[in-house]
Amino acid sequence: MADCPNLPNCGFMKKYCDAKSLVCQGFITMYCKGEKQSQCQRKQYKATHGTPPPDNMMPSGQMIAA
Ligand code: SF4
Repeated sequence: MADCPNLPNCGFMKKYCDAKSLVCQGFITMYCKGEKQSQCQRKQYKATHGTPPPDNMMPSGQMIAA
């Protein structure tokens, strides 16, 4: 699976994802580099709207409380 093209600039990953955290590694493995990439709500949002979603939207589509 190719990496998500949004990965270098993904606001969620930049802002909320500490590369050392297991949760973050899980997201990257499942979504950004994995089989759930086509289900990523962030990726779908950008494809639909042409602009990135808010940084606090998770790949699952849930929002992290600010
Ligand atoms: S969270 Fe979604 S949009 Fe962001 S890099 Fe990962 S797969 Fe791409």
